[in-house]
Amino acid sequence: MKASPPTFPRLEVLRDEVRAMRAYAVPDASGLIKLDAMENPFSLPPGLARELGERLSAVALNRYPPADPARFKQRLAQMAGLPAGKALMLGNGSDELIHLMIQACARRDEPGGAVVLAPTPTFVMYEVFARLDGCRFTGVPLRPDFRLDIEALLHAIGAQQPALVFLAYPNNPTGNLFARGEIEAVLDRAPGLVVIDEAYLPFAQHTWMPQLEERPNLVVLRTLSKLGLAGLRLGYACADARWIAEFDKLRPPYNVGVLPLAAAGFLLEHFEVLQRQADVIRSERDRLLQALRARPELTAFDSAANFILFRAADPDRLFDGLLRRGILLKNVSGSHPLLAGCLRVTVGTPQENEAFLQALGALS
Ligand code: PMP
Repeated sequence: MKASPPTFPRLEVLRDEVRAMRAYAVPDASGLIKLDAMENPFSLPPGLARELGERLSAVALNRYPPADPARFKQRLAQMAGLPAGKALMLGNGSDELIHLMIQACARRDEPGGAVVLAPTPTFVMYEVFARLDGCRFTGVPLRPDFRLDIEALLHAIGAQQPALVFLAYPNNPTGNLFARGEIEAVLDRAPGLVVIDEAYLPFAQHTWMPQLEERPNLVVLRTLSKLGLAGLRLGYACADARWIAEFDKLRPPYNVGVLPLAAAGFLLEHFEVLQRQADVIRSERDRLLQALRARPELTAFDSAANFILFRAADPDRLFDGLLRRGILLKNVSGSHPLLAGCLRVTVGTPQENEAFLQALGALS
């Protein structure tokens, strides 16, 4: 008798945790004022965009990227203030580097696996990648005002001995900078790596890069995304060269394409354009914060980033009302108990921010 043919698709060959997951949701923003994803709202000046086009037209698309784009990395290290003797690696967005560091620490086949720890709420991908790679994820809740609960954090570090601690500085989605002295205590106490994620550095202007000199367990993670180059997908991790050499073993070959490399190389030569845009975003953030604080029905939290978290009595109604008026925010109210009632707005152009404020006024 012939065996009956298998029915397809045989999704059961996939890991259970993959089938149980939901894909990272990116809403369709066509036609909307897009204030949901912490992008820089400004495009490149037309002259510079044309010059960039010319530069890109000379790139050899038939060739793989160089194994080690040393010149580009040198320039980036110089601009980033990487201390002498420390190393840097590039990733397809800092997302890829987060995943890669977690993969390097995960101990799938050992009972209990490795622990990845972060204060929560924070950037969701630390937990997503940790779980996907078979790590245990420990989230230590922040205080209600979003400061670190340093006693609870140090206690969890002592009890769980995490391989990796992630601290977003400033934190997403709360927007605040954790106290430096408390981060020093985490660095003192952590048995493994502490990754300080400086994705929002252009708006915070506080860095841990110089501390790489005296902190062998520190990784400073950065990205070009929030500076205005989210579409390039280029992040970098800075640490002692011995860490980077290990992580590099897990990097997929050619993880950063020739076009992002060439575009970033060109734009580093014109860095002041992006910095000036960040200056405008910072001052717009402060203006937006004041305007939100002037509304008694809202509570807006301090921000050192290019977004502001605020609490409303009925966040779902407000989110939907703004959407009907063509403005897309991020509704984070259901994502963590400490974020109950909260929406997150990314700072846009002055015109976009004005449109947002007017829509808010019309809705209250
Ligand atoms: N870290 C933090 C704190 C973030 O908020 C984000 C993106 N929202 C990232 C890292 C990832 O950035 P990218 O992959 O674009 O470099």
